Amino acid sequence: MSDIYELTEQQKEIQDLAWQIALRDIKPIRESFDEQEKFPWDVVKKMAAADLYSVYLPEAYGGMGGGLKEQVLVIEQLSRACGGIALAFAASGLGVLPILLLGNPEQRARFIPDLASGKKLAAFSITEANAGSDATATECTAKLDGEHYILNGSKTFVSNGEVAETYVVFATTNRSRGARGVTAFVVEKGTPGFGFGKKEHKMGIRANPTYQLDFTNCRVPVKNRLYKEGYGLFTAQTTFDCSRPGVAAQALGIAQGALDETMAYIRQRRQFGQPISSFQAIQHMMANCATQIEMSRALLYTTANAMDKYMLPVYKKAIDQNAIVYDVLQAGDGKRWTKESAMCKLSCSDTAMFVTNECVQMCGGIGYMRDFPVEKYMRDAKITQIYEGTNQIQRNEIAAMMIKELASATKPEAVAA
Ligand SMILES: Cc1cc2nc3c(=O)[nH]c(=O)nc-3n(C[C@H](O)[C@H](O)[C@H](O)COP(=O)(O)OP(=O)(O)OC[C@H]3O[C@@H](n4cnc5c(N)ncnc54)[C@H](O)[C@@H]3O)c2cc1C
Repeated sequence: MSDIYELTEQQKEIQDLAWQIALRDIKPIRESFDEQEKFPWDVVKKMAAADLYSVYLPEAYGGMGGGLKEQVLVIEQLSRACGGIALAFAASGLGVLPILLLGNPEQRARFIPDLASGKKLAAFSITEANAGSDATATECTAKLDGEHYILNGSKTFVSNGEVAETYVVFATTNRSRGARGVTAFVVEKGTPGFGFGKKEHKMGIRANPTYQLDFTNCRVPVKNRLYKEGYGLFTAQTTFDCSRPGVAAQALGIAQGALDETMAYIRQRRQFGQPISSFQAIQHMMANCATQIEMSRALLYTTANAMDKYMLPVYKKAIDQNAIVYDVLQAGDGKRWTKESAMCKLSCSDTAMFVTNECVQMCGGIGYMRDFPVEKYMRDAKITQIYEGTNQIQRNEIAAMMIKELASATKPEAVAA
């Protein structure tokens, strides 16, 4: 990795700590855990003991007070060894963010400390069989009944499924209102009526369980509703604005890990009496991969720095004033991070797919084999173009924000100014 990013001493320490765990605890088991679709509980314990789950959360809730940059550094280093095992860290981040962003002070204090310590893992569940890219089609229902909502229906494709204790679940409280009828809830494992259905068998990230969640007359206390009724899709979008750089970091780590393994191989593999790294065709692939990775990393780190500069004072203000982060954001200048975070995910995930494909090619036949690590990187890379919104959806959102910006820049008063 290029040394042009001016990380602070603490960020370097966090990055190094994550890389040590990746080398010592993840690398030796990644193949077998992928093969057996086994969840890495021992690695989770090591990450918790090293305080990694706390690096990006506020001190008020047991965090270390860092931000997105610290989170991204950890995810990238873990994913350099294994994108699937790294998800035990990253998917919990996706589950904790809506609580941090849309939860009230009581909910933040109730749920975040156990997630910051790694004692519990979180998960995020918006997808359904008939509501993927289009979350307005949510069919799972939540009906108010006194002090509870009664949830019925199923959610699909939930990362950290079954291993997490704390689930942020989206259900419709008023189907006739479509997008404005969806509401977010925190549902704890063990709540009667909440069970786990099908476990998916996947192409990649196989060390992370992807489950269906089933709700049958599941009574969730009103105090577990995040923000107001009908604000579920705002909750999801605000979360994605802050979480997509995490997927980008996973993709970047996968790309870097694949290139590291490939570089080691091509220097010692000889054909036609010379190392294959001496062929210009191979050198151009290496150069393209390294350049692509560094371009994506520059975008990701720059965005994470900018987002932290903006968001960390917002978190502090919300905590100091006993307010909800989303309200503090709304009361501010209205800045949204939708475009920048989508660009990070788009760029890094396309880079991961490009680089891992090139790496398999550079390694030749061995690159295609299960007992050589490069094919796994390629399988793991693919999901980063799909989840938290496919890359088609990222492009839609980037374009929508560009058009919005253009419209506001060409308002008569803006032109006059
Ligand atoms: C391994 C795995 C883990 C996951 N983890 C989670 C999780 O933890 N929590 C969770 O809630 N979900 C999770 N998901 C779900 C994931 O976010 C969705 O699969 C994804 O958003 C796409 O939805 P879909 O699969 O229904 O595809 P669809 O929406 O059916 O899309 C199919 C194709 O149509 C394209 N398309 C759809 N609409 C448009 C449009 N408007 N413009 C252009 N193209 C479009 C898509 O880009 C895609 O190519 C996970 C999925 C997988 C595979």
